[in-house]
Formats: sequence, C-alpha cells, structure tokens
Amino acid sequence: MDAMATETFSSQMRGPVLTRMDAEYDTVRSLYNGMIDKSPKVIARCADVADVVTAVKFAHDNDLRVAIRAGGHNGPGLGSVDDGLMIDLSLMKGVRVDPAARTVRAGAGCTQGDVDHASHAYGLAVPAGIVSSTGIAGLTLGGGTGYLTRKYGLTIDNLLEADVVLADGRIVTASASENPDLYWGLRGGGGNFGIVTSFLFQAHPVNMVYAGPVFWDIKDAKRVMKTYRDFLPGAPEELGAFVGLKTVPPVDPFPAEHQGKRACAIIACYNGPTARGQAVMAELLSELPEPLFNWMGEMPFPALQSMFDPFFPKGMQWYWRGDFVKELSDQAIDAHVAQAQEVPSALCLMHLYPIDGAVRRIGKSETAWNTRDATWSMVIAGIDPNPQKAGEITRWTKVYWEAVHPYSAKGCYVNFMMEDGDDSRLQATYGDNYERLIALKAKYDPDNFFRINQNIRPMHA
Ligand SMILES: Cc1cc2nc3c(=O)[nH]c(=O)nc-3n(C[C@H](O)[C@H](O)[C@H](O)COP(=O)(O)OP(=O)(O)OC[C@H]3O[C@@H](n4cnc5c(N)ncnc54)[C@H](O)[C@@H]3O)c2cc1C
Repeated sequence: MDAMATETFSSQMRGPVLTRMDAEYDTVRSLYNGMIDKSPKVIARCADVADVVTAVKFAHDNDLRVAIRAGGHNGPGLGSVDDGLMIDLSLMKGVRVDPAARTVRAGAGCTQGDVDHASHAYGLAVPAGIVSSTGIAGLTLGGGTGYLTRKYGLTIDNLLEADVVLADGRIVTASASENPDLYWGLRGGGGNFGIVTSFLFQAHPVNMVYAGPVFWDIKDAKRVMKTYRDFLPGAPEELGAFVGLKTVPPVDPFPAEHQGKRACAIIACYNGPTARGQAVMAELLSELPEPLFNWMGEMPFPALQSMFDPFFPKGMQWYWRGDFVKELSDQAIDAHVAQAQEVPSALCLMHLYPIDGAVRRIGKSETAWNTRDATWSMVIAGIDPNPQKAGEITRWTKVYWEAVHPYSAKGCYVNFMMEDGDDSRLQATYGDNYERLIALKAKYDPDNFFRINQNIRPMHA
C-alpha cells in the first residue's frame, strides 16, 4: 500500500483519513483501556454510510485487516488493529426520537450518554448500559445489560432494525421482515457479520427514577449478598439492582471516615413512583445491618447513568474476567468475599448484574444471545490509573476468577471477555446457537473479513 493509495482513499472519503504522519493520529487511535496500545496503518474516520462502504473496499484492495471502532470501550481493545485499517464510526452520531412510536434511531458512533440525553427530553429511555461513555454499538451487538434489563430485557431485545454494511460492501437492513437471519445474528453475535451504521430501538417511559448506591462495610458483605440474592427474584421488575464488592472511593463527597474502606454495595434504580421505590427498598434494607451510607434519591435517569463517569475516565488500565452465574451459593459468596479483600487497587471491583425478568421471556434460540437462564452476569475488573500496576491488577483478576469460576455456569457475556474468548469459550457462551452462528458467518462473511472481535469462525477457517 503506497502513499498514493491512501491519498486516493482520502479523496473519496467525506470524513478524515489519518496515518502515522498526522498530528491527531495518536489521540484518535487511543482506546478507553489504557492497557491496550495498537497502531493501525490507517484510520478511516467515517462521516456516513458511503464512507463505510469506501473503507471496506479500501481494506479489500490493500489486503488490510479491519477493526471496527465505535465507542472504543471494548476490554481487549478489539476496536483497533496493529498495521491494519481502523474503521472509526465515532463521528457518526445523531439520535432521532419518534415519541409516537416510542422509537429511537441512533448513529453507530453514539455513546450511551448521547442516546440517554436525546431520549430523556421525551421521557423515554432505551434499556442499555450504566456508564455514559460506553459505545451504544459494541454494547448492543454483544447484548447489553443495565438498570432497565429486568423490566424491558437486554438492549438487543429492544433492537428493531439495523442498517449494515456487509463484508462485500453491500448495504442492507436487518429486521424481523428484512434479512431476518442477519437480524437474529446481530442480536448477540457482536461485530462478526457486518458494520452496523445505525440502530433503531424500542424505547420505554423512563423519566425520574429513585436510584443510587448503598454501601456497607465489607464485614457485612456476606449477609448483604445473601439477602440481595434471595430478595431480588421476588422483587418487582421495576427495580434494577446489582450487587458489587468495591472500595469506598477515597475522595469527596464520600464520608471522610469511610473513604478507602473495602465495601459491599447495592446500586439500585426503581423506575416508577418514588414512594413505591422507597417501599421496595425499605423491605430489602429492613433485613440488613445499618449501611455506611445510603445515597438513594429521586433523580433524572441520565443523572444516574453518568453517576460513575468521574471514577472511570478514559485511559486507565483495565483487565476483565467474567462468567454467567445461575446460582449464587453460600460457598460462592464466601469465595467472593475472600478474594475481594485482597485488592491491589481501590478501583478494582466485582459486579453481579441481574439476568432475569423480561430477559427470560424471550426464547434461548430467538436471538443469538443464548444464556437467558443465567441469573447474573458477573464481571471482575482489575482497574488502576498507573500502567506500572497492569501486571498486579491482571494477576488479581485472574486469581479471583479462578476462585469463583467453579461456581459459575457455562459461558460469559461476550462484552466481558478479554483474550479468553477462544472457540471453546464462545461455544459455551452461545450453546445451541453456536452452529447456527457459524453457518451465518459462512453466509455473510465467508472469508472472515470481520475477525477482530470475539470471533465466530466460518467452518473452513
Ligand atoms: C466502563 C465500562 C462500563 C461498561 N458498562 C456496561 C454495561 O453497563 N452493560 C453492558 O452490557 N456492557 C458494559 N460494558 C461493556 C461494553 O458493552 C463493551 O466494552 C463494548 O464492547 C463497548 O462497545 P464500544 O462500541 O464502546 O466498543 P468498541 O471498542 O468501539 O467496539 C468493540 C467491538 O464491537 C464491535 N463493534 C462496535 N461497533 C460496531 C458496529 N457499528 N458494527 C459492527 N461491530 C461493531 C466490533 O467487533 C468491535 O471490535 C462496559 C464497558 C466499560 C469499559
């Protein structure tokens, strides 16, 4: 590939094309996870669908490996590729809300925050994630869990339609009536089948919520986790609540006397009348010891969605491990609490996100996302701002995961995998849907053009 080819490519694109010679190259190529440092040969900053098609053709003509980057939040950095072409969708923003149909059309470059911000003006929200800087694209294609999951399902359960550029450059729409096989695969199969340029979501009435964190001292963690485990399945689906083991952040406005303490937290969101939310939470809290602090209150939904942003700026070191969990036994809780005491850094955490309610009302083979009988999606994340602690947080995460993995179900949410997403892990995750995904890959991407992802390989690869 010579400079002339890149220049011609650039002249055909509406958005900028960057190479290592450009001043903005290093800023643009950087990913959310500071542990990953990849150096693409070319970055195509697509402005529209035509740019995406041009970029796909350029990659074919120059035999370049392709990575698709939307929000750039992917744990193992699958939004970039060394010496290949990064197709960067982050400029393709724009959200259109149809209040009558309660639908939201979002460009592939939107973050969670972009979607929340636009929908909130109409008193609506799309069920998705919990941190506003996450890309809506990667999150959706992997599944998408958050506070509204119990009531309204995964993000993919609210995906009505997607516009897609395929490996051969064709532009197609995937929905229940158009290319339904592709629509099936996009709902959980990640970036394996094409480049989604826009998403159409079903939204739901969400406005003010009763929400926030409640923290207990780690000495109460076993009791909190057991009570939460037993309470949640019978709680109204309007309550989305995850439990975590973490540290009280050593910064204001956290109470000075508790800063830096190891803790167990329940982060909850009740989407309904505040008085009802308070009553539901009072029932749970009545069974538990006095918390270190309870910061639940009435707030606009986007305020909750951006509550944790300040703690997780771009560029920190992240190492993840996850698992689906069906039953959280007392022994598993003991193992969690033992591991969580040993943290190398205050930001390290373990979260268990509920997978029940509306998620279970959709069949295991209705979308690619198979593990609808899990009860929780677990993530253990080693996090620290200091690159010199990368080894230590990685080791902690792996040791923690090894200790609790025996209590887990098969498979893991693909968006919580690191380099562990090999064939056998994906097979366990997709279960009975795996063969169908391989056949779909052979139909839509037989040469595995889209391979920088949790890769479903065609049979011959
Ligand atoms: C701080 C933080 C909080 C998170 N919270 C949640 C949460 O609450 N719920 C949840 O479900 N997940 C959550 N995640 C995980 C998140 O879903 C994944 O990291 C996901 O990959 C992020 O998508 P992205 O667009 O930002 O990633 P990118 O790194 O841009 O893309 C990741 C991969 O997705 C695929 N992809 C992205 N865009 C497209 C596209 N338009 N077309 C085709 N393929 C595409 C590609 O394979 C790409 O390699 C969180 C992650 C972080 C770091």
